[in-house]
Amino acid sequence: MIATFNDVKGGVRVEADAVVVGSGAGGAPAAHRLASAGKSVVLVEEGSYVKPEEFTTDFMTAMRRLYRDNGMRAMVGTMLIPTMQARVVGGTTVVNSAICFRLPDDVLAEWVEAERLQGLSPEVLAPLFDQVEHMTNISVEPDEVLGRNNLLLRDACARLSWRGEKAARNSRDCKGCGVCMSGCTEGAKMSTDRTYVPAFLERGGALYTDCRIEEILVENGRARGVRGTFIDPRTLAPSSKTLEVRAKAVVLSGGAMGTPVLLQKNNNLANSSGQVGRNLYNHTATGMTGFFDEEVRAWEGVNQGYCCVEFRRSGFLIEVFWASPDVIGIRLPGFGLRHKEMMARLAHIAGWGAMIRAKSTGRVIASKKNWSPAIRYSMNQRDARLMQLAMKATADLLFAGGARFVCPGINKVPSELHRAVDTRLIMDADLRPTDFNPIGNHPLGTCRMSEDPKRGVVNSRGETHDVHGLYIADGSIFPNAPGVNPQVTIMALGTLVGGYVAESL
Ligand SMILES: Cc1cc2nc3c(=O)[nH]c(=O)nc-3n(C[C@H](O)[C@H](O)[C@H](O)COP(=O)(O)OP(=O)(O)OC[C@H]3O[C@@H](n4cnc5c(N)ncnc54)[C@H](O)[C@@H]3O)c2cc1C
Ligand code: SF4
Repeated sequence: MIATFNDVKGGVRVEADAVVVGSGAGGAPAAHRLASAGKSVVLVEEGSYVKPEEFTTDFMTAMRRLYRDNGMRAMVGTMLIPTMQARVVGGTTVVNSAICFRLPDDVLAEWVEAERLQGLSPEVLAPLFDQVEHMTNISVEPDEVLGRNNLLLRDACARLSWRGEKAARNSRDCKGCGVCMSGCTEGAKMSTDRTYVPAFLERGGALYTDCRIEEILVENGRARGVRGTFIDPRTLAPSSKTLEVRAKAVVLSGGAMGTPVLLQKNNNLANSSGQVGRNLYNHTATGMTGFFDEEVRAWEGVNQGYCCVEFRRSGFLIEVFWASPDVIGIRLPGFGLRHKEMMARLAHIAGWGAMIRAKSTGRVIASKKNWSPAIRYSMNQRDARLMQLAMKATADLLFAGGARFVCPGINKVPSELHRAVDTRLIMDADLRPTDFNPIGNHPLGTCRMSEDPKRGVVNSRGETHDVHGLYIADGSIFPNAPGVNPQVTIMALGTLVGGYVAESL
């Protein structure tokens, strides 16, 4: 059963075994797992259910329709770092690049030790990763779908003898059109709206879209349900239509921004640790362009389909990236004629970037006025140094791939490097965090999982330390940033938490 804004009149009141708030990487698998266990489940999502034929390749329109705050969110500190989250059935999995990594065992071991996590081990997670991979068809793309931008990185890794691999992706019959960030018009991306949500509905689950949950109902120390307001999808204005779900368990899956905001707006619920909204981790990432003699035509092929994994344990991955010409244009140096000349050679540009396992932390603070939080985050000098190393390695790869010249896009470094030996200038420069132009699209950690109630908001079963029957299943429960793209780990943890909730009912 699906009920949208238009289907609902006045106030709706329903009962279920469990209610899940948010249908992204964490929420949809949790809801699916619960429904598979025979539980009655209500899944509530603030965004609409947008179908492949309704997506557009016009990125500005997509940002307004699919992203929170029109895609213009930023983390604010010593500089602005853009950060994007989706607001749509399927959550941010709808607009992501479909890169899939399992959580590395060494990172898991670190998490288990730091937070004394009793319920997590490689043996527990392996079958969950298998399930996620099966459910979302995780596989690698054939060369012809990857396109030249990705294949050049493969060749560059081979030339430097650095380990590289095709990115595993959750897609089926991908056409390599490269516009994943606008939503997949081909219906090829196996985001949760195409996988877990339909399977959940088939198992009798009820989905309410266009509804923002604003209140968590707690009685005698136990979560008893939620209340929300339907949002008119045309105006994004709250309406007089309301939803109340009475349930034996509540699972919050609003993401690392949404979940702490919801808890803070409920009188700082589940926050005896003081950690709700803190420990905002990220994979800070930035890109670099290289100009090749040959035509790369980077818009043909998957936007992120190959990774250099040589430096993962040192703290960074190098991944191909591509975006619409306006976004690439911002990354190119120069003004006027020089910039125009560069844009005229768009077909010859390869775009690769580095994503670091950042250790800087920030904070999400709910606003009293609305549902858009203040996001405080500053990159520290340790991370700037790591970014410097990562950018040097990216430039080395571009030259190894055959670039005629490279535009590092880093302050204090020449805007064009024309010889491979000049990449040392990146290391020679006295770089500070503000010398980079990073983005941070993997917010994590704001409701940290820890067996210690003073350090964490939830235990390793996903249940909050403070409120029985209140669970969290999304990226907010990560102890820190794992150094690999997080969606598969979030889906696995969503499945795990869904299983624990089902057992408790
Ligand atoms: C452009 C981009 C590219 C990315 N590429 C990759 C990639 O290639 N690989 C990868 O692993 N990761 C990638 N990511 C990150 C990944 O998609 C996210 O980390 C992941 O989806 C987060 O899962 P989540 O469940 O925590 O939150 P989300 O997937 O964001 O889901 C949260 C959902 O909850 C809803 N919600 C929030 N609050 C409420 C409320 N109060 N009431 C009702 N609903 C609510 C939201 O609308 C949203 O739909 C990318 C992210 C971006 C922005
Ligand atoms: S590259 Fe593949 S998955 Fe991405 S939007 Fe195009 S067809 Fe969909």
